[in-house]
Amino acid sequence: MAKYLGAKCKLCRREGEKLMLKGERCYTGKCAIVKRPYPPGLHGPKGRARQSGYNLQLREKQKAKRLYNLLEKQFKLSFKRASKQKGDAGENLMKLLETRLDNVIYRLGLAASRAEARTLVNHGHFQINGKKVSIPSYNVKTGEIIKIKKSSQTSKRFANLSDRLKKMEIPGWLYWDAKKFSAKVLELPRQENFEAKINPQLIVEFYSR
Ligand code: SF4
Repeated sequence: MAKYLGAKCKLCRREGEKLMLKGERCYTGKCAIVKRPYPPGLHGPKGRARQSGYNLQLREKQKAKRLYNLLEKQFKLSFKRASKQKGDAGENLMKLLETRLDNVIYRLGLAASRAEARTLVNHGHFQINGKKVSIPSYNVKTGEIIKIKKSSQTSKRFANLSDRLKKMEIPGWLYWDAKKFSAKVLELPRQENFEAKINPQLIVEFYSR
């Protein structure tokens, strides 16, 4: 799967907020948003473009795309899928993004960032209902069990897992069973579980122009 290889902190600075793309570093004073709270560019602080209707919609779409670590084509495809489903396209889009396997792994605290979660999925560390799934875009469904595969449970990657998970706030639609190294999807995420940083309505408006 194609991925963005540029500087991640620049993406946060462009959007003017922390998108938490670099794991632990995002919680420290080294965070670029803390050190340089202005858009990236060669000539220092320049201020931000006027927030017109179009610009607001564009920035919201860019922010969501960057937050979920997707490229333009992948994000647009998700939107197309969302708009073909019954109901509100914005809500459908957020559901599709939230239920991606890489996002679920991040939300469970098994990876420090969505990028790391994608790598872990690609490397085949997880099973769903007993079968290996290494597709980050796989959308989990209600009742499915996501498990760290046996040979990975003792790997360095998942060392100190219980300490790490104590600091995590696992969303209510997922249940983590520490003894079994597995999580259950209790229900599909609802509005209150969506990424608070995103206003999906603006994204719908962007693609409806
Ligand atoms: Fe964004 Fe994290 Fe970089 Fe801060 S450290 S700018 S939150 S990616």
